[in-house]
Amino acid sequence: MTVDHVVVRPGELALKGRNRKGFEDCLLRNLRAVLRPLGVERVERRWGRFYVGPVNDARRIAAAAARVFGVVHTSPALRCANEPAALSAAAAETVRRWLAARPGTGDVPFKVRVKRADKAYPEPSMDCARRLGGELQAAFPRLVARLDAPELLLECEVREEGSFVFVERLEGPGGLPVGSEGKVLCLLSGGIDSPVAAWLMMKRGCRVELVHFDAQPFTGPGSLEKVRALARVLDGWQGDTRLWVVPFAPVQVATKDLPQPGYRTVLYRRFMTRIAERLAGRRRCQALVTGDSLGQVASQTLENLAAVEGARGRLPLLRPLLTFDKVETIRLAERVGTYEVSIRPFEDCCTLFQPDHPVTRGKAEVAARLEAMVDVDALVEAGLAAAREEDVARVALG
Ligand code: ATP
Ligand code: MG
Repeated sequence: MTVDHVVVRPGELALKGRNRKGFEDCLLRNLRAVLRPLGVERVERRWGRFYVGPVNDARRIAAAAARVFGVVHTSPALRCANEPAALSAAAAETVRRWLAARPGTGDVPFKVRVKRADKAYPEPSMDCARRLGGELQAAFPRLVARLDAPELLLECEVREEGSFVFVERLEGPGGLPVGSEGKVLCLLSGGIDSPVAAWLMMKRGCRVELVHFDAQPFTGPGSLEKVRALARVLDGWQGDTRLWVVPFAPVQVATKDLPQPGYRTVLYRRFMTRIAERLAGRRRCQALVTGDSLGQVASQTLENLAAVEGARGRLPLLRPLLTFDKVETIRLAERVGTYEVSIRPFEDCCTLFQPDHPVTRGKAEVAARLEAMVDVDALVEAGLAAAREEDVARVALG
C-alpha cells in the first residue's frame, strides 16, 4: 500500500553533538507550529529526516514546510514498504500522476535514481533503478530513458523507516531554525534593505523583533501602513512577530534647529540606536540589526557608521547587508516577498528634514557636541515610554 507523505530534509548536517540535537529539537517545534494550522497533528522525526503523513494535500504541506528555516528541501512523496513490489507500485503511481498533469503524447525523457540507505533491503541501488526504469518504460510508452538532464527524475529513498518515492524537491531557505540562536531587534524602515537584514538574521537562527521609528505627523499614515505590511510578510517566515513603533517626531523637532544640518541623519541614527538598545534590553534581545550597506548612500560611509556606533552602549550592532550590492539585496527581497511592498512610494522620516549636504565623514565628537544642546536622556526616555506594540497578525496583507 502507498500513502501520501511529505519528506523534509534539514540542512547544516555538519553540526555535531549537542548542537545537532538542539537544532533538530528547535526545527521540529517550528515545523509543528507552521503545519498545525494546516491540520497536521504529527511530525515524525528520524535520523536526518522529518516525515509528515499520511496527508491528503502533500504538495501544500511540502510548500509550507519549505518556508521553515533549517529546511533545505521538501518533497511530496509516496511512502511504501521496503519491498521490490511495493516500490514498483509506488513508482508507477507517482509517474501516472505526473503524466496525468501533463496530457499529450510527446516523449518524456526520464531517469530513476535510487538511494538505498537500508542495507537490509536486498536489491542494490543501481539494480533497483534499472529494474524500475524498465518496468516504467513498459507501462508508460511516453517515457524514454535519458541519463543527463531528464525532464522527469523519479527518486526513491529506501530507508529503515520505509521507502519514499517522489519527483519533486521544493527548495527550502536553509540556515538554522528560528530560535536556535537567541533573539535580536531589527530597526525596520519602509525601505528595501532592512526587511532583508531581518530575514537574514532569521536565517541564522535568530528570532527577530522589529522596531520602527515613526515620523508622523511629518509623514502620512502610509509609511506606517507599509511597515506593518512588511512585518506581516516577515512574520510568514518566523511566526509570532513583534513590531514596536516609536514616535520619532519629538527627536526631529528637538534637533531641527541645531547648527550643522548636515549631521541630521547621523543624529537620527544615533537616537534610533539609543532607543532601540534600551528597548532591546527590555525585550531581552541580544543584538541590534540594521539594513546598512557600506557606501550605498551618504549616511553609510565607514565614518558615519562609526559615528552612529559612538552612541551605542554594549549590545552588538549587526549589519548583515554590509557587503551586499543593491542588486543582490533586491534579488533577496523578491525571494523574501518584501520587495513589492518596499517599492511602494513613501516618505521616510529622514527624507523629510533631509539636509542639502549630508555629511559623509561624520565624527562622533561633533555629533556629541550637537547633542549636548538638547536633552538626549529625556528624548530617549520619552521615546521608550511611547513605544507601543503593533499586532502584526491582525494586519491585512496588501
Ligand atoms: P532601508 O532600505 O532599510 O531603508 P537604506 O539603504 O534606505 O535602508 P537608510 O535609510 O540610511 O538606508 O537607513 C539605514 C538603516 O537604518 C535601515 O536599514 C534601518 O535599519 C535603519 N532605519 C532607517 N530609518 C528607520 C526608521 N524610520 N525606523 C527604523 N529603522 C530605520
Ligand atoms: Mg531607507
